Amino acid sequence: MTVTGKKLENPPLDEIGRKIEKSAKIAGRKADEVALVAVSKTRSSDEIRPLLESGHRVFGENRVQEAAEKWPALKAEYPDVELHMIGQLQSNKAAEAVALFDYIHSVDRMSLVKALGKEMDRQDRHPPCFLQVNIGEESQKGGCDIAAVPQMLQQLRDAGIKVAGLMAVPPEGTNAMPYFALLAKLARDNGLDGLSMGMSGDFEKAIKLGATHIRVGTALFGPRETNQT
Ligand SMILES: *Cc1c(COP(=O)(O)O)cnc(C)c1O
Repeated sequence: MTVTGKKLENPPLDEIGRKIEKSAKIAGRKADEVALVAVSKTRSSDEIRPLLESGHRVFGENRVQEAAEKWPALKAEYPDVELHMIGQLQSNKAAEAVALFDYIHSVDRMSLVKALGKEMDRQDRHPPCFLQVNIGEESQKGGCDIAAVPQMLQQLRDAGIKVAGLMAVPPEGTNAMPYFALLAKLARDNGLDGLSMGMSGDFEKAIKLGATHIRVGTALFGPRETNQT
């Protein structure tokens, strides 16, 4: 709790804020066009609280179950928290996801679009969604095919889902820049502004290529014990 009402300093948060500002400036953009989604997966509420006490409100989780265990209590303390679902989502978790999250970054297939659309209508709650694109055409990875983007966007709209933009996770161990550039082009070609791309290791590059939402975990919280992605 913020007993004094004063915002506490948080050196990693401040450092990332400076980097966001610098990258945005280089790209001729404004820093406030970039939302920092603090990825709190695997972190306990006690680890998350210092960021809340510093005034940060935008967080990302990759598992519905884990988010449902941590966030209702934290949201009771900090009602203006904005919670983002960034991980693969099973259709049978659609109801819980729609109830809990304010944005969903990982919509990538028809069955999920249908399940989410139905739940949004039922709950009368419409969290904007990013279409996740398998930008590196990796067989194991979530995300729709690049060629399917226009048709998938139409499906989202037909289901009454608000489209926030495109999201991707480039292949590990490669230069992410061409993938960021490709995602940005896909967004432009489809008349979308929102771009969820860039993580701890590459968010500055992502901002230079137009990211509106960066998803940063380890740079804020330190290394995760499990290599959960
Ligand atoms: C874990 C995760 C992140 C954050 O990764 P870091 O390297 O810790 O910044 C971003 N996006 C997705 C989809 C993730 O699962």
